[in-house]
Amino acid sequence: MKEFGFELRVCAWAERNWPHGGRTSTAIVARQLGTRRRRWDTLVIETTDADLRGREPFGEDRLDSDLLHVARHAPASWTYYRECLPDPGYPWRYVREAIHRADDRGFVETRRDGNRIEIRRRYRYPAWAGRIVAIENKPDLDASAARRLAEQLEHDVALALADEIWVATTATDEEIEPALLEAMPVEVGILSVSNERGSWDCEPIWQPRTLDVSAPGTRILDRSAGGPRDMSAARFEYADPGWKHRKRLEIAERAYERGWRSYAATMRPDCRHFELEDPTGPFPWCAAKQREQTAAECSGSCADFEPEPPAWRSMGWPIEGGPGRATKRLLDRKRQRRR
Ligand code: SF4
Repeated sequence: MKEFGFELRVCAWAERNWPHGGRTSTAIVARQLGTRRRRWDTLVIETTDADLRGREPFGEDRLDSDLLHVARHAPASWTYYRECLPDPGYPWRYVREAIHRADDRGFVETRRDGNRIEIRRRYRYPAWAGRIVAIENKPDLDASAARRLAEQLEHDVALALADEIWVATTATDEEIEPALLEAMPVEVGILSVSNERGSWDCEPIWQPRTLDVSAPGTRILDRSAGGPRDMSAARFEYADPGWKHRKRLEIAERAYERGWRSYAATMRPDCRHFELEDPTGPFPWCAAKQREQTAAECSGSCADFEPEPPAWRSMGWPIEGGPGRATKRLLDRKRQRRR
């Protein structure tokens, strides 16, 4: 199976089964999220139903960094905004803009006192996002893939932006899973993914160490001088805990908005060959290729692409759209139910 389909299976499994240790009541799962420098295949945000209910009044869309600044510090009683919000470190006009957006979203109220804008919150922003778990998916973890991945994972461990890092790889029939023999950082856990007659399961075969997300992290900028396993000549910079905390919140908010089923947004569900299969996902299927297509090949430039016939849309078209629109709505509904 290609990496894309494997990744969707790991997401579906994590959504149903995380956490394997029973540490929390629910999990928000997202794909392809992270920072400007690093994107993880699968992200699990551990949370509880009560915390998710506390997050609900802030809407389905994410709070970006400016909105988070307002949501986290807005006071319970009317206060001049410059007296209650910490200096953002950038011009205040951007804060005013964010205050008006927060007002439009309905979680902050504003009023004028002369020239001064006063604010008060309608809802307290909850610390809804618990631990963040990053999973890297490598269905075929041969020695050279493991070498390349190990270097990336060393960066992740040094920065410690996520609480846990895992690698998910295909289970084999070997007595000792080959992934255990590769030179991975010991802090990284390994999930062995099996598919028995269409039923997917993941088993932890190496437990990760919990990383210290509240301590300063280390960004490895350049390690080339010392060779791949020699850190003595590498260049570093530190990531302060405040930056890590803000980044983690932003990542959690993006995960909340997107979930892992947003793949339909970058594929062509409006192609007549696009189908969804397996209700546990659902996962995309291409009737023309008679296999699962990847997100990259399912585009307007695909040689087999054919727009869905107008007759398919005739019932509710153009308001309801055809099967393509229905696919997006179905995936959207599943995402919302999760939240
Ligand atoms: S034919 Fe191409 S565009 Fe259409 S569903 Fe298959 S992969 Fe996607």
